[in-house]
Amino acid sequence: METILSIRNLSKYYGKIQAVDDLSLEVNSGQVFGILGPNGSGKTTTLSIILDLLKANKGSFQWFGENSNKETRKRIGSVIESPNFYPYLSAVINLKIIADIKCHGYEDIDRVLQLTGLFERRHSRFKTYSFGMKQRLAIAAALLGNPEALILDEPTNGLDPQGIADIRDLVLLIAGQGTTIIIASHLLDEVQKICSHVAVLKQGRKLFDGQVSDVLAISDSFELAAGDLEKLQIAISLHPAFKSLAIAGNKILVYFKDEVTPDNLNSFCFSEGIILTHLSERKRSLEQHFLELLHDTP
Ligand code: ATP
Repeated sequence: METILSIRNLSKYYGKIQAVDDLSLEVNSGQVFGILGPNGSGKTTTLSIILDLLKANKGSFQWFGENSNKETRKRIGSVIESPNFYPYLSAVINLKIIADIKCHGYEDIDRVLQLTGLFERRHSRFKTYSFGMKQRLAIAAALLGNPEALILDEPTNGLDPQGIADIRDLVLLIAGQGTTIIIASHLLDEVQKICSHVAVLKQGRKLFDGQVSDVLAISDSFELAAGDLEKLQIAISLHPAFKSLAIAGNKILVYFKDEVTPDNLNSFCFSEGIILTHLSERKRSLEQHFLELLHDTP
């Protein structure tokens, strides 16, 4: 698999604030790569560095196996600020202006307007567009010249549910055509629905990365009880998938690192000489799980 972007030990300070802290990650061809983290976790700073809009204090990055240069930049499209077009000009004219700036021909304009669902409204002035249409036009502009990689910073911020769904469908459509997409978001749900891979950031540091299905996998918790609660606690902490436990009245709540079935738990406890008087599985929401990931890690 071709490496599209490789980031090595990147750090960025704004005075005393460290916005990015020794960040390394790799994005491969065809991935929809989410950079997920709460506000202030360094997502925009990271994107600005890899787009050469900001300089890092330490570390390096490569696009397509090369240090960033004029040619690699032509292979990348990006939307990292709110859409900025001439309000009194139509979508087509605005795109022609951008094509001129980027030294592209006009032949790609109809394609990107079709792709983003704006073709019918191509002659309407920008100021008559809804916020969602404006955002889609920004993506259309970034797609001029058919870049191999597309970078989007919080593309659904401020959109209504329909606008969010439109952007989500559009990202999946673009990815389906083979474009590698890097998308910064603070919304777990968005990353889960759109991305194949994710890096979770907290205060500029990467906590986890990998396939969305692995990183955001929910390990469920179980509520257990037995005649001797202390003995149960000791026994369950010996389980190979044990992560942590909390006491809840006359029961204990046990979290596991990996998937565990009720059968497995029951027979494990029995083999430790404990007869369970209560066993129930508690599903956690993904939201809860994400907050725990952020919270648990110092
Ligand atoms: P958000 O989603 O809120 O934009 P983010 O994850 O994109 O957050 P950044 O905008 O990269 O995070 O900010 C990371 C840290 O750097 C924050 O503490 C922020 O206050 C700080 N920061 C960002 N830009 C500047 C700047 N120009 N000057 C000083 N500090 C900055």
